[in-house]
Order: sequence, then C-alpha cells, then structure tokens
Amino acid sequence: MLTWTVGSVRVTRIEEQLGIGGMSADRFLVGFDRAVFDRHVPWLAPNHYSPEHDRLVSSMHSWLLKTGEYTILVDGCCGNHKERPWMPRFHQLNTRFLENLRAAGTEPEAVDFVLCTHLHADHVGWNTRLENGRWVPTFPNARYLFSDREDARWNPARNADLEPIRRIVYNDSVLPVVAAGLAQIVDGAHAIDDMIRLEPAPGHTPGHIVVKLESRDRRALFCGDVLHNVVQVYEPDWNSAFCEDPQEARRTRRRVLGHCADSDALLFPTHFGAPFVAAIKRTAEGFSHAFVAAPGG
Ligand SMILES: [Zn+2]
Repeated sequence: MLTWTVGSVRVTRIEEQLGIGGMSADRFLVGFDRAVFDRHVPWLAPNHYSPEHDRLVSSMHSWLLKTGEYTILVDGCCGNHKERPWMPRFHQLNTRFLENLRAAGTEPEAVDFVLCTHLHADHVGWNTRLENGRWVPTFPNARYLFSDREDARWNPARNADLEPIRRIVYNDSVLPVVAAGLAQIVDGAHAIDDMIRLEPAPGHTPGHIVVKLESRDRRALFCGDVLHNVVQVYEPDWNSAFCEDPQEARRTRRRVLGHCADSDALLFPTHFGAPFVAAIKRTAEGFSHAFVAAPGG
C-alpha cells in the first residue's frame, strides 16, 4: 500500500488495475508526433509506455485521503460487474478494489465523501456495487460530490442527445447514488473544509473538477483526467482522444501544471504509472516533472 503525507493528511493509492491501454499511443494522444514522442521513450518505458505493444501504460486507482476528521475518496475507477462491452478494460471486472481499500484500514461505511472529478465510466464505477441484482451505493454513509455542469452532460434526464452507452454508465453508477439521496451536486468551486476544495477544470469533460488540498503549508492537486500520461507534462497540447473540448482541455492542463509548479503542489493523477505522483517545475520550454515515490514504496 503506497501512502504519501501532505501536511497532516495521509493520501493512499487504492489500486484497481495497472496495465497497457487498448489504443496505440498515436491514437490515444491527439496531436501526437512520433519523432517528439520517441525522444521521451527512454524514460517513459517501461512504467509509462510499452514499446513492445506501442501502448501507454495506465493505472486505474482511487486516492484515499484521511484528514483526521474526514475519510475522502477521490474518483471511483471502473467498478466490478459493470456491463461495458465497448471497452474491454472496463467490462465485467472482478478486481480486489474493496479488499485493497480495507487493507488500507478503511471500510466502505467509513468513507465520508466521494469526490468525482468527472462522470466517465472509469471514475464512477465504485460509486455503486451489485447487491442481489441491484446497484446500491458502495459507500452508504458518504456524500458523493460532482458538478452540476457534469450532471447536465451525462444525466439522460437532462441531455436528450446522450449516447446510449453513456446512459448505461449514468444509470448504474450515478443514478442509484442520486436516488439514495447521497448526491451533492455542486456549482463551481466548493470547499469541503479549510483544507480541501473543488475547482472547475473543464475541457476533458464540461464539468470536470480538480481537488486541491492544503495542509500545514503543504499542497497537493488531484487532477483526474486533466492529464492521462506523464508525457503530457512535456507536451501539454497533446489531448487524450476522450477530451471533449480540445482547446479548453489544453488551457486547463497548462493552468493546472502552472499551479502545481508555482505553489509546490504535488500532482496526484488518476492514470499515471508508477510511482504515480509527481512534482512539477517550470522550464524555459514549459514544464518538467520529478516523480515523488511514496516513502518505502
Ligand atoms: Zn479516466
């Protein structure tokens, strides 16, 4: 179990899966330039890119924050038993995510907040679990927070044009939480307390948020899918194939990297390979990173 300390807050990585993606690097990254990418390959391989497969390596994990007062989960991976035939890596999984959570000393009932950076299938899966054929909230005592703009995009009752596969995701992973009265839909920036706040970070999706943590003059930023792979620190104009608004995604990526560099905020992404967390610096060309491994990890 990998745990970082940010001020008085302990941050633990709860793994669901770690492996190669389903698309070649040039298809996954929009704006991809093979010659530029090849310059990064010596340090990207093997933890962030598999040259053998020409696939990016990506993790699916949640971040578990223990503040002393609250237990908070940032993002909920893909979940078990979800019907996702269009995406083999998300489809009918049976992972040890909940066992990993318990190994970190947390029962699902102890989670106070679930913060959804956005409502894509690989971030809301563990919002719910299958019980006697019904989807029920995995964290029955939590408040689940996500943004109103995000709900407007993915809620079939608010978006008549929503693609059928998106309806499946909302209906099995978001709607049961809303129906149970556990959803708290926030508008714009929102503070959990004086340490943790949500801020809009649109682009990948319209209502994407990031989570900022500040404790005892130490800072962290949980960026969701503002970045997918560490190569984007060096090539911030490269989007993922799943970024909905390309221009806004690039602007937000640069703003988030700038914030991390200027305020010494550690970057905690959802999909980076090991060692998963990075410090960001400004350079003459843009940005650079240094991985920050968990102590003992
Ligand atoms: Zn994602």
